[in-house]
Amino acid sequence: MTAEQHARLWAFVRGESDEISFERWFLAQDDLEVPLGGGLHWNLASADYRDRDVVWELRNSLAQRLEAHEKCKCASIPDLAAIPMGGDGLDERVFATIENVRDHGGDLWWLHLSKCSACGQHWMIAQEERIFDEYFLRRVSKETAKGILEHAWPDEFITYERVLKIGHTFATPCVFVDPMSGSLIWSAHDLQKARPEITVDEIARLLGVTPMNAKHLLQAKGG
Ligand SMILES: [Zn+2]
Repeated sequence: MTAEQHARLWAFVRGESDEISFERWFLAQDDLEVPLGGGLHWNLASADYRDRDVVWELRNSLAQRLEAHEKCKCASIPDLAAIPMGGDGLDERVFATIENVRDHGGDLWWLHLSKCSACGQHWMIAQEERIFDEYFLRRVSKETAKGILEHAWPDEFITYERVLKIGHTFATPCVFVDPMSGSLIWSAHDLQKARPEITVDEIARLLGVTPMNAKHLLQAKGG
């Protein structure tokens, strides 16, 4: 299997490629029957790609087949992904091979560049351990990674506000037992420091608290 075939099959598994163009591409490949096995190959070649349930099953069986040969989780992770901290241990499996290469440092405590020791893939990672307890991962090219090593960081995770907005597209913020928890106080102050004109309502939405709570957080000593 070529690197391009591997990449296209995984993009289909991750739901990042259009079904009909995948089908067209797949039918044009003449050397995938051996690596995929006759049964799976036949299913992929003859399936009705307009049927969502069929596509869902194809993705699952193809994922199982491909995963058996992977030394790491990189190929199965979407280009932009959220990996919960703790939970079912997915983070441990993902980070078993992904190692930190460069911290952004300074006020941007969440941001770093990592590299997988098994496949060489670079990931830009926002480690958000206050509000969501998630790692947000962006797959980055070798060129982008090289830029980061020369301090040219992409914008995507460059402010805490951006990271929290991305967080909201994946999950809901953790519910805090203590409405004046340090994590909330620090985060409210960080958001205000980075963008002084941010409103209390915006901060409340980002942190998943009431506007009244957000107001109290800003009044509390923090930062
Ligand atoms: Zn990898």
